[in-house]
Amino acid sequence: MKLETLCLHAGYTPKNGEPRVLPICQSTTFTYDTTRDVAKLFDLEVPGFFYSRLGNPTVDAVEQKIAALEGGVGAMCTSSGQAASLISILTLARAGDHVVSASSIYGGTFNLFAVTLKRMGIEVTFIDENASDEEILKAVRSNTKAFFGETVANPSMDVLDIERMANLAHKVGVPLIVDNTFATPYLCRPFDFGADIVVHSTTKYLDGHALQVGGVIVDSGNFDWEASPRFSEFTTPDDSYHGLVYTKAFGKAAYIVKARAQMMRDLGCCQTAQGAFYINLGIETLPLRMQRHCENALKVSKFLACQNNVIEVRYPGLEGSKNYELAKKYLKKGCSGVISFEIKGGREAGAKFIDSLKMISLEVHVADIRTCVLHPASSTHRQLSDHQLEEAGITPGLIRLSVGLENVDDIIDDLRQALEAASV
Ligand SMILES: *Cc1c(COP(=O)(O)O)cnc(C)c1O
Repeated sequence: MKLETLCLHAGYTPKNGEPRVLPICQSTTFTYDTTRDVAKLFDLEVPGFFYSRLGNPTVDAVEQKIAALEGGVGAMCTSSGQAASLISILTLARAGDHVVSASSIYGGTFNLFAVTLKRMGIEVTFIDENASDEEILKAVRSNTKAFFGETVANPSMDVLDIERMANLAHKVGVPLIVDNTFATPYLCRPFDFGADIVVHSTTKYLDGHALQVGGVIVDSGNFDWEASPRFSEFTTPDDSYHGLVYTKAFGKAAYIVKARAQMMRDLGCCQTAQGAFYINLGIETLPLRMQRHCENALKVSKFLACQNNVIEVRYPGLEGSKNYELAKKYLKKGCSGVISFEIKGGREAGAKFIDSLKMISLEVHVADIRTCVLHPASSTHRQLSDHQLEEAGITPGLIRLSVGLENVDDIIDDLRQALEAASV
């Protein structure tokens, strides 16, 4: 099935007389006839549900759908995108280990990596993802367990050369994790370019209606845990799971089963049935929405590029953008709906501009069907030092605009009058 069809039909196929729409299984627990049935579930011998922290039929259907969209062997929903990023790392690395990450990433992820993971004993080295191969490989240590980057970085809109990064990661025997939130599987499937694990904040385009916070981890099934000397946790008995060996018991799905069996079991950051229902509803129209987000954003970026008091427009689909060539390779169907631009007059003009908008709202959000706008330096990235800001590709006057599905003329009219107000 093609992606548009999978968005509607993957993960849930009603049988004779069952509901057409994915039902919300609002139940913490599930009953069985015998203790033997339950024992088999606990031993992971048979798939099934026993407690909604570890699995729920509604959540499971959405996981199967997202796995199908990304072309993976399995997926696990989490309570947020942050939880997905955290678990994606903790399934691979423990105290004393190390991760190499692109520096152009979401502010929340940067903080998670630079501060909280560090406190937990996992060190992250941030690299300029456009540096030479040699430079990037210099960051690798004997205890490195993963490479991490974003397909389209939030909010710098830098496009990751996934294929090159995957090759570098594989050269040293570690998987590449890609945060595919801004691209969505409609615009890019990182597994097609060699990425091993994908994470999403489903809060963004997958939901798309600003209804439900959530995240997901998807396993490509392609990384060979047995071939690399770095992942003994995958290939030797897990004492916390009475001696289970993940690669032996689950083959290609070793990573995603380990993520659930260890990390979801112990950390408990699960998605709810109601939440999964909303995410599913969003995914059903993902292709249509992404088409319009891309179309509107390209028109708006072209408009902004012609304005006197706009210094720079960052949108990978804009000819002349430093990411234009990478976008041609990785984002053939469009470059998503987010635009970053720098307004003349820095911090002050930026604030004046935002305060002058009438229809477009100020929100700590992106990827909503409604156009919204944000000033990263005073909100999402305010914890970052000036140096870290610069590393993440953000300037004080940078505005992040998430272009919605309104008629593009109305979006441009509002931007025009606010730019005029800010230029006085
Ligand atoms: C929003 C976002 C996250 C964090 O997701 P939450 O659902 O807000 O926890 C992670 N990565 C990217 C690229 C994001 O845009």
